[in-house]
Amino acid sequence: MNILYVASEANPYIASGGLGDVMGALPKSVKESNPDYDVSVILPLYDTIKPHHKDELTKLCDISFKLSWRSTGATVYTTKLSGVNYYFIENHYYFDRGRLYGEYDDAERFAFFSRAVVEFILQTNRIPDVVHANDWQSALAVVYLKTEYLRNPLLSGIKTVYTIHNIEYQGKFDPNILGDVFALDERYRGIVEFDGCINLMKGAIEVTDYITTVSPHYADELKYDFFGFGLQDLMVRFSHKLSGVINGIDYSYFSPDKGGDIDYPYTKRTVKSGKQKNKAALCAELGLSTDPSIPLIVMITRLASQKGIDLVLHVADEMFSTNAQFIILGTGEKEYEDAFINLERRFPNLRALIKFDRVISKRMYASADMFLMPSKFEPCGLAQMICCSYGTVPIVRSVGGLYDTIIPYGENGSNGFRFDNYNAHDMLYTVKYAISVYDDQKSWADLRKRAIACDFTWNNSAVKYIEIYKTLLNW
Ligand code: ADP
Repeated sequence: MNILYVASEANPYIASGGLGDVMGALPKSVKESNPDYDVSVILPLYDTIKPHHKDELTKLCDISFKLSWRSTGATVYTTKLSGVNYYFIENHYYFDRGRLYGEYDDAERFAFFSRAVVEFILQTNRIPDVVHANDWQSALAVVYLKTEYLRNPLLSGIKTVYTIHNIEYQGKFDPNILGDVFALDERYRGIVEFDGCINLMKGAIEVTDYITTVSPHYADELKYDFFGFGLQDLMVRFSHKLSGVINGIDYSYFSPDKGGDIDYPYTKRTVKSGKQKNKAALCAELGLSTDPSIPLIVMITRLASQKGIDLVLHVADEMFSTNAQFIILGTGEKEYEDAFINLERRFPNLRALIKFDRVISKRMYASADMFLMPSKFEPCGLAQMICCSYGTVPIVRSVGGLYDTIIPYGENGSNGFRFDNYNAHDMLYTVKYAISVYDDQKSWADLRKRAIACDFTWNNSAVKYIEIYKTLLNW
């Protein structure tokens, strides 16, 4: 089987969020589970990709094509990593912007990328069995294959999978640019137009052979107004070709027994003492108490409303007055950043680290007793799985992938705490409940053991995706 993943980011080359993590891990796992498969990933060659990665690339070919009235083209570079082929589309005008997204011409940039992907397939005669595209940035690759290029005999047999990592970001643009920017004929307007806009995600949902999203629970939630961001009716209509596959995490990167980033590496067997040492070191460094009887609760998160930050702020006084210590690591909306900086001044048991810092994040996963993740919605969520791998007990809201991965305390096989309603006092009650369980050392040790024993490896997810590809191909 030949699978081509199309994405706007992939670790280790470039990532701004969960999509980059998934595209760094899923192709590798699919290849590992079936070494005979030909697995590739195609990405834009951004200027922000680190020079040492760029140095690994070799030039493969030049492609040229038309995008509406523009004659354009790209140089394609390649490299191989863990058996996976990586292709990079170089175009300095579109991708030398110092950042990935948020440019005035994102529509044109990612139309160019998607068109370049299809032209690359065609011009190099590397015809995959499956094209697997992701989020709005590569939605047009699916749309092009199923519209403008459908009659091309080389491409017409390609099956497409389209993954929604977060339905909030749909790629909505002015309806007047269908031909000029997206190079789509008027007869395809109905496919991409929605609610007065061109909506690229909607276009891919409409025409793709299969849709996946990043957890089974989120796949159900998307059919409801609260979660669907306007696309809920469409998700109901296409539910026959929709399913959720939970993401995995990369244990080679997030693991307490790997030295390097954390102060005192530990294993499942030594989790209690290892955690204590890491916690003491981190708390001392940040000027917090090192008393092991006081639980350390952390958040590592984008400071965005999706992440339930409003709940924390709503009950901040009461929560930060509990007998626990808190460290919050995050960046995002200024209003949230400022709120935590102010709270830190008022509560001596709270540290607000307003930065993006992978090293300190790992030290926090290793040191904390509990990890708070009260998301409003959560397509999959990685942090709750990452914290389990460090034996840090998650406290989450029952939503999306959090529901699928965390079994609440009191139930068989529990690995954390869960609350149902998007309600600050429900959250606070659950935090206090977790603190009371922490005081019972034996119960806590058992719970922590179950959390660290969880298997959130990518293998399970890779197997599920391969089943989807095989079904589509009638294999
Ligand atoms: P999302 O992709 O919606 O932001 P996830 O839980 O899926 O949420 O993934 C978040 C990832 O980003 C985790 O690996 C988490 O550790 C990391 N992360 C979030 N904020 C920070 C930060 N400020 N510093 C370091 N890592 C962070």
